[in-house]
Amino acid sequence: MKFAGFISLVLAGSACAAPSLDPPKLRLDGSAQPLSYAADLTIVPDRDTFHGTVDISVDVRTPADVIWLNAVGLQIQEATFRPESGPVLPIKIVPGGDQFIGFAFDRAISGKGVLHAAYQGKISRNSSAGVFQLKEDREWYVYSQFEPTDARRAFPCFDEPSFKVPWQLTLHVPKDHLALSNTPVQSESSEAGGMKMVRFKPSPPLPSYLVAFAVGRFDVVDAGRVGPTPVRVMVPKGKSAEAAYAATAIPQLLKLLEDYFGSPFPYEKLDSVVMPISDFAMENAGLITYAESTLLADPATETIDHKRELAATTAHEMAHQWFGDLVTTAWWNDTWLNEAFATWMERKIPGEWQPGWHLDVTAVNARLGAMRSDQLASAREIRQPIQSNDDIANAFDDITYEKGAAVIEMFEHWIGEAKFREGVQLYLKQHAWGNATASDFEAAISRVAGKNVAPAFNSFLDQPGVPEIAVALKCESQPSLAVSQKRSLPIGSQAQPQTWQIPICVAFEADGSVHHQCSLLSDPKDEIALTGAQTCPAWILANDGETGYYQVAYQGDLLKKVLADRGSHLSVAERVGVLGDVDSLASEGEISAQVALALVPEFSKDPDWHVVQTAANIAALLKGESVPANLREKGVRFIRQEFGEKALTLGWVAKPEDSDDTRLLRQKLVPFVAGTGEERELVEQAETLARQWLQTRRGIPPEMLEPLLRIAAQFGNRDLFNALRTAAIQEREHHVREVLLEALGSFRNPELARAALDLLLSKDFDSRESFNSLLFGPLSYADTRDVPFEFVKQHLDALLKRLPREVGEDYAAMLPSVGGSFCDARRRDELDSFFADRVKDYNGGPRTLAQTLEGIDLCIAARKSLTPELTAFLNQY
Ligand SMILES: [Zn+2]
Repeated sequence: MKFAGFISLVLAGSACAAPSLDPPKLRLDGSAQPLSYAADLTIVPDRDTFHGTVDISVDVRTPADVIWLNAVGLQIQEATFRPESGPVLPIKIVPGGDQFIGFAFDRAISGKGVLHAAYQGKISRNSSAGVFQLKEDREWYVYSQFEPTDARRAFPCFDEPSFKVPWQLTLHVPKDHLALSNTPVQSESSEAGGMKMVRFKPSPPLPSYLVAFAVGRFDVVDAGRVGPTPVRVMVPKGKSAEAAYAATAIPQLLKLLEDYFGSPFPYEKLDSVVMPISDFAMENAGLITYAESTLLADPATETIDHKRELAATTAHEMAHQWFGDLVTTAWWNDTWLNEAFATWMERKIPGEWQPGWHLDVTAVNARLGAMRSDQLASAREIRQPIQSNDDIANAFDDITYEKGAAVIEMFEHWIGEAKFREGVQLYLKQHAWGNATASDFEAAISRVAGKNVAPAFNSFLDQPGVPEIAVALKCESQPSLAVSQKRSLPIGSQAQPQTWQIPICVAFEADGSVHHQCSLLSDPKDEIALTGAQTCPAWILANDGETGYYQVAYQGDLLKKVLADRGSHLSVAERVGVLGDVDSLASEGEISAQVALALVPEFSKDPDWHVVQTAANIAALLKGESVPANLREKGVRFIRQEFGEKALTLGWVAKPEDSDDTRLLRQKLVPFVAGTGEERELVEQAETLARQWLQTRRGIPPEMLEPLLRIAAQFGNRDLFNALRTAAIQEREHHVREVLLEALGSFRNPELARAALDLLLSKDFDSRESFNSLLFGPLSYADTRDVPFEFVKQHLDALLKRLPREVGEDYAAMLPSVGGSFCDARRRDELDSFFADRVKDYNGGPRTLAQTLEGIDLCIAARKSLTPELTAFLNQY
């Protein structure tokens, strides 16, 4: 009901309304369908409204006296209908709640015609949904962001993905501004008042959520051509030099995508536009938008991480140009297919481009991360029925992206890389320029695979949870593997048991060679004959390549065998996968924490930094809630003992001869030993370097800036806090400001943590930028974990006023996460009673509260079970 006020304003001027007409509940009824759109908008950055007209060619298939369209926050000033023949008909506007608007006629109409409307809309300054503006260095830029349901903030339209038709946009903008949209410019002409008109070519068929535009004094970086496609990067004024790596990477990745899909880039041009905002990218056809920190970096201070993130994100968004844009899923219940596929491609294609980046290991870590959220009883299934706009927004989460990507990877491995790709190409060919469903995708894959993959695939799509597979070796005659499956559950979990159809691929060494074998586990228990083995295998890896979406619980001495000789017969991805399973099985109480921790000394010395990082994750069991207070110091000492020497040798500052891998190890390990291991020498170095940097902006390698400032803040005093705050207020570079805000949210001193939270209410920072770091940073330490909840209780109203509250982007939904580090019943109940009623008004809020409460319950249960184990380990140590 957010826009109820304005609707009555419209009605005040109109002669009559038909209050008996009911607007649709969620979806349009399809009685009228769009054939094409022509929209004409006047957009001036720095203004907070825009004017527009839209002419929609429609086909009214069933006679109707009202056509319902989606519209949010639009003031309709006039509307008419021009039938194919006959006179223009007047229209009365009918209010339709907060998502719809009705165009009513005196009598029922049918057939084709043009619906015309003139209206005014809002250019938001505090949200990034619909049409909004962002400021960079005193200059305003206007952007659009329509996925999933915000095109209706820019045009009255049929705002559902299955209405895929040509759009033609015309923008009126100030003369010295650049106007961009999905297609190249068709014509441009001067207008009065310092304005110009830019008309774009009509687009190929597009759903409303992929239409886009941008206006501002952008600088343009030419990135050449890929085949006939011109590739450009648009940056805020004066930032061309920072687009150097983007301009190199984008065309090369685009070429690899064309090769993978076996078809050229579908649109006439590819523009990549920078937005001064955090963590965001959107695959608008031919006009992809990216967060500034993703796309731009000063070449002198560019980090390895930045290059990888840039390659991943651009590959993801460009993959969508085929998978999502050229072929669009018919409805939002298949959001997962678009996002899972693009997420899987964001490692596959850059991995092909830069094999030295080990993106297979990144994929394993992403899978392990997704499994942690998927173990919760409140986890949702990948494919979810959509009952509300809330469900549409909720569908864009970790489960959709990362679990979905891991499941695709599992099926690719099972079917074979070449066949799977053939299936993807077939799917695109069959549905090009149209819509499709997940069943269409499964059908294409099944056809090339020569078997029906749908039942197995659907067992992962339609139920939540992580399969855990227990494996035991039987060597009496023909060696075989006894396998059984169950749902992997954290200690104390209430989730329902269930089974899957799991493609299980194994590798084993027998008779002097390594064998690979795949089969499908459909029953709770089964026995798999190891057909290639004459004698009992020396070791067996029950998740070959670590591409399967399941956890392995090795029985008997199989874990010892697979990790024998420091796992030297396994790839890095495989070592990380096996140790990652050990880590989660230990926190689930499925294997002893002592067994897990005993692996740390060996794998903390691994030559590969990914493996060292995984060993550090296991060691972090010792920093958690389950360690009794009197043994905490001993736990911290264990971390210093196992990782300290390596971290001290690396130090905070890079050496000229360092390889990329050394730099990455430093970036992960040094802050871990300094922060969790509380290594004094590294902390003091961090404090000195942070102060130096604040004065001179020199002396810290770029990839170390964020962790170093964070560690300095963790142990820092009021002086450092003030210096960081002043620097953040004065900082003009968006990504440096992000790092400074992160540091401000990292103080372990409770008084300073409170001071940082007060900044959320000050006008010094855009809350879209500061919200996450400042509000959730204090949850990292026992000393400050109560501070955010206390702050929210005290300042809720003031905070809500400052936060973006749009559907799909309601920051209030995240507020219950302030209890994310609680681990006792009293605080759990306080959190519940404070939020239980309130979250009903936050879009997506009930889910966050349920997940947070479940997390607290699990923490309480885990503590009970882990504490004796950890006590025993530390007492021995
Ligand atoms: Zn995506």
